Amino acid sequence: MNVDGIREMFQNGKSVEELVHSIFDKIEHSKLNAFVTLAKESALEEARRVDKHGAKGMLGGIPIGIKDSISTKGIQTTCCSKILEGYIPPYDAHVIERLKAEGAIIIGKTNMDEFAMGTSTETSCFGPTRNPWDLIRVPGGSSGGSAAAVAGGEVPLALGSDTGGSVRCPASFCGVVGLKPTYGLVSRYGLVAYANSLEQIGPFAGNVKDVALLLDVISGYDPRDSTSVTKKCEYLKELREDVSDVKIGVPGEFFGEGIDEKVEKAVWGGIKALEDRGASYTEISLPHTKYSLAAYYIIAMSEASSNLARFDGLRYGLRLGKDKDWHTTFSEIKAQGFGEEVKRRILLGTYALSAGYYGKYYLKALKVRTLIKRDFESALKDTNVLITPTMPFPAFKIGEKIGEPLALYLADVNTVPINLAGVPSISVPCGFAGKLPIGMQIIGRHFDEATILRTAYAFERGMK
Ligand code: GLN
Repeated sequence: MNVDGIREMFQNGKSVEELVHSIFDKIEHSKLNAFVTLAKESALEEARRVDKHGAKGMLGGIPIGIKDSISTKGIQTTCCSKILEGYIPPYDAHVIERLKAEGAIIIGKTNMDEFAMGTSTETSCFGPTRNPWDLIRVPGGSSGGSAAAVAGGEVPLALGSDTGGSVRCPASFCGVVGLKPTYGLVSRYGLVAYANSLEQIGPFAGNVKDVALLLDVISGYDPRDSTSVTKKCEYLKELREDVSDVKIGVPGEFFGEGIDEKVEKAVWGGIKALEDRGASYTEISLPHTKYSLAAYYIIAMSEASSNLARFDGLRYGLRLGKDKDWHTTFSEIKAQGFGEEVKRRILLGTYALSAGYYGKYYLKALKVRTLIKRDFESALKDTNVLITPTMPFPAFKIGEKIGEPLALYLADVNTVPINLAGVPSISVPCGFAGKLPIGMQIIGRHFDEATILRTAYAFERGMK
């Protein structure tokens, strides 16, 4: 299911309402558990409106799934945490306003790891999402519902958020395209914060063209996000197949220990395919890569410990219904409302920020972050893009790693450096290990989404 195909269906007489009905039917019979809340009434109402007045806007009548960490006015938004049960935002995130302005139809909210903390979508209070390629496997995370919904043909487009890989990891595991924009390109207004300095909302689709289209819609300046940047975004227009001017850097550190042989082979196959299409490549080094995971988890958990303080059970979501003193209510709500992984991160983050340890952990991590960012800037001076495996291995089994938090953190080894540096990156399918898809990561210069999209597009065209 892609945007061109749907437009063709409309031209051949299918109504938006019929399409939306068939999507809800499919989701209701689905084994994936990709959606956690459906917006049936509003979606059908909007579909009828488009049928009556014609499909206007860049996404007129096109259905989309939204990660449950993005605020949607009138539609329950829980970050898949018990603590936000029943919370209905009174306002739309910036990206939702943009989607509505362009005529998209919001189908519902997609499953995710609780508060976007995870790599497998197993920590959701709604239960895990299943990988459409093999139902006993995870779809990746934390935006696993969005990726699985696209891969499973439930919606052509979806939004996720990426703090340390949460768009690219599930895109890779589910065999779809997913992009993490440059920090500042897409407004975070209305995205429930996990680690503000790292995250961006990003598009998912079945192909590069649809990702470019969705990025055109959601990117651009928003005064309500102080890190938002003024930038004219017309990525779809700039898309072409020519990569003869593209210089690829291949950082050895990203092909290191723990990378599955089949993954390595498929990604090298991708690099060679781009070379055949006129691009050139050199092997390069990003020397501080080995510190990325440690720096990322200290920074992300520190920011999370501060961000999640606002969930005190008084203003949003879960209520215990008993009148006790403030301290008791506050701790009971947190004890019952947050899952284990979220609690672990709040504790570790609070520790890293505490008076005696701040300099040793948090401040040090920030300094390392600067070194990592400089690595990328210097490597991308002589190259236009860097190519690496998105994930070290294909999708693992549900339950396989969930008992071992460290093993899960290690899976983010190739995605977190990109968030620390703030550069854009796209994951595009580049082959299979058995029946499981493999993703190739294409990283670009700050605000040069156009080149990573073009490289991904040329590669995708070559695969057909
Ligand atoms: N897996 C990483 C984490 O758990 C990334 C999550 C994300 O990007 N939201 O923090």
